Amino acid sequence: MHLQNIVFLILFLAALSLFAYNLLRIRSYLMLGRSENRFQNAGTRIMRVLGIGIGQSKILREPAAGLMHAFIFWGFLILITAVLEAFIQGFYSGFSLTFLGSFSKVFFFSQDLFGALVILSVIYALFRRYILRPKRLQGDGSTNADATFILMMIMGVMITMFGVNALKSAMHPEHSEYYRAHFIASQLSDLFAGSNAGVLYNLFWWGHIVIILTFMNYLPYSKHFHIVTSLPNVYLSKLGPQTLDTEEIDFEKENVFLGAGDIEQLTWKEMFDGYACTECGRCTSVCPANLTGKPLSPRKIIMDIRERTSEKAPLLVNKKEVSAEVESKKLVSEHYITDAELWACTSCMACVNECPVNIEHVNPIVDMRRFLVQSESRFPEELMTVFGNMENNGAPWAYPQSERLKWAEGLSNPVPVAAEKQEFDVLYWVGCAGSFDARYQNVSRSVAGLLDKAKVNYAVLGTEEKCNGDSARRLGNEFLAQTMIKENIETMKKYKFKKILVSCPHCLQTIGNEYKEFGGDYEVVHHSEFINELVTENKIQIDETKKIDKKITYHDSCYLGRYNDIYDEPRDLLKKVNTGEMPEMKRSKDRGLCCGAGGGRMWMEEKIGKKVNIERTEEALELKPDIISTACPFCMTMLTDGVKEKGRAEEIKVKDFAELVLESSK
Ligand code: SF4
Ligand code: SF4
Repeated sequence: MHLQNIVFLILFLAALSLFAYNLLRIRSYLMLGRSENRFQNAGTRIMRVLGIGIGQSKILREPAAGLMHAFIFWGFLILITAVLEAFIQGFYSGFSLTFLGSFSKVFFFSQDLFGALVILSVIYALFRRYILRPKRLQGDGSTNADATFILMMIMGVMITMFGVNALKSAMHPEHSEYYRAHFIASQLSDLFAGSNAGVLYNLFWWGHIVIILTFMNYLPYSKHFHIVTSLPNVYLSKLGPQTLDTEEIDFEKENVFLGAGDIEQLTWKEMFDGYACTECGRCTSVCPANLTGKPLSPRKIIMDIRERTSEKAPLLVNKKEVSAEVESKKLVSEHYITDAELWACTSCMACVNECPVNIEHVNPIVDMRRFLVQSESRFPEELMTVFGNMENNGAPWAYPQSERLKWAEGLSNPVPVAAEKQEFDVLYWVGCAGSFDARYQNVSRSVAGLLDKAKVNYAVLGTEEKCNGDSARRLGNEFLAQTMIKENIETMKKYKFKKILVSCPHCLQTIGNEYKEFGGDYEVVHHSEFINELVTENKIQIDETKKIDKKITYHDSCYLGRYNDIYDEPRDLLKKVNTGEMPEMKRSKDRGLCCGAGGGRMWMEEKIGKKVNIERTEEALELKPDIISTACPFCMTMLTDGVKEKGRAEEIKVKDFAELVLESSK
C-alpha cells in the first residue's frame, strides 16, 4: 500500500465516522418525538419515491427552476459512478471503470453530459438567487451564504471531476479508447498538454475527494441537509388521504396528549420534516394566508421546528439541564411560532400539495393549535361562543339540535328520518350548514329533491345528527371533536344503511377519512359524485329545454379537491346542465386558492391583511362570470360575501351545482 492510499484511508474513515456520528445524533433528536408508524406499504412508498423523488415530478411543475434543480439532482445520481471510481482508486490506484468494456463508455459519456448540465444549473441557480431574486427565496431567515457555499461545493466537485477525466488518457493511455467517450473532458486535455500530467491529475483527484468528504460532513450542519433527507422524507410521507394525527383523549390515562407546545410533543416525523426542508419557499408562495398579508409562512413553521430542535434536543438527549431561558423559548412562543401565525392557517393543504419533498405542514400546525386550546386555553375570543355552541347544540351555530330538520319544512315530499325507517340504502348527512345556514338550506332541499326524483331509498338523522367535528378538530379542540365524533358513531350504529351521502366536503373528509380512527368505517360519497352518477344512469333526467346558458366558473373546495381528489365530477355535472362557457380561474384544481374558511377560519374574524375570500372572488370576477359554482357550504358563504362586498351580487350568483341540476331536470 502506498502512502497516498494510507492517507486516503485515514481521511475516508474519519469522514465516514463523523458523518455516521451526525446521522445518529439527529436520529437521537427525532427519538424524542411522539411515535408514529410511517413504514407500512413499502411498495407504494417506493413508487412515490420513484415518481416524486427520482422523477422530480413536483419540482418540474415549475419549469425553469424545476429543470435547474432536476439536472443537479439527476446529475448527482449519474455522477455517483465518477465518485465511486475515484473512491475505489483511493484504495487501489489502478482501478478504472473500463473493466466494464464498452458499457463503461455509457458512463463516461453520461458523466460529461450531466457534469456540464450541473455546471450550467449551478450558474443559473446563482444568477437566480442574486440577480432574479424571486420572492419565494427571500425572507424567513433563509440565508444566501449557506446556499452559495453549497453551490460552490457542487461546482468544485464538477470542475475536479472534469480535471481528472481530462487527464485520464495521459495517465492511462492503454484505456484511451474508452476515455474518448468523455466527449467534453477529452477536448479539455489539450489545455494540459506540456504540463506535468501526473501532478495535475493528483491535484484534481485529491481536490475531488476532499471536496466530496467535506461536503458530506458539512451537510448535517447546513440548511441543505435535505440533500440527504429529501428522498427518505418522500418515502415516509403520509399515504392515502391527508388526515390529522390522532391521539385518543382519555383522561383516565396518564400523560394525555393535549397538543404540542414544544418539540418533544411533536411526532418524530414532524421533526424530521424540519431536516428535509429545502427552503425553496414553494409552500409559502401558494399559502392564501401569506398571500393576503397574514403573519403565516408555512416555510417558516418548518424552519422554526428545525431551529428549535437544534436548540433544545441536544440538551434533552444529553440529559443536560434545560435552562429557564431556553425552556421559556418554547416552539409556540414569540421566539418561534406565534399564536397569530397558527390561527391564520385555513388548513387548505396548498403548502403540502406544492412541497417537492412532501412535507406536511398542517399536522404540526393543528398539534400546536391543540396546545393553545387544550393546554393554555388561549384562542381568539370569538371561538368561545363557537365551542360553547358545539358543546350545547352539537353545531357551531346557536340553533338547538331540535331545529335540525327545519330546512325540510314545506318540501312537497316529507324527508324520511332514520329513527322511523331504521333500514335504508343511503344516509343523507345534511351537516350543520345544510341544516341551519339560511342560504345553504336551499342546497339541502335541492339534494332532497334530486334524491326523490331518482327514487333513492334514503333517510336523514334529523335531530339526532351532530356536527361532524371538523371545525373543532382543526381549531385544536380535539377533546370536543372526539366527543362529537364518538356520539355520531354511536347514533349511526343504530341504523342499517349502505353508504353516507354528504354535501359538505368537510363532512366527507372527517366522516369518510377520519372516523375510521374511532371505529366508524363508512363508505362516504360527496353529492357531486352521487348526483353525477344518477344523471349518468339517467335516474335524473336533464330537460333539454331547461338547460342553462350561462358563463359559469367553478371554485374548487380544498377539502373536496386537494383532500379528496375530486375535481372532475362537479365539472362534469355542470357540463351536463349548462350550454354556456365554463372558464377556469387562474388557480384551479389542485392549485385552487382557498376561500378562506377552512381550518375553522369560517368562525373567526379576519383582522389582518386582505380578506382571502376577496382575493378569490376577485380572481373569479376577472372571468366576468354569470355564476360562480361551488361544492361546499363554507365556500358558498365566503364567495357570496365576496361578491356582495364587491357590489356585484345583483348580476353574479353563487350557486351549488345541485341547485343547477334540479333547475334543469325533468
Ligand atoms: S394549509 Fe393553507 S393556509 Fe395553512 S399554511 Fe398551508 S397553505 Fe397556508
Ligand atoms: S416546506 Fe417544502 S415547499 Fe416549503 S420551503 Fe420547505 S421544501 Fe420548500
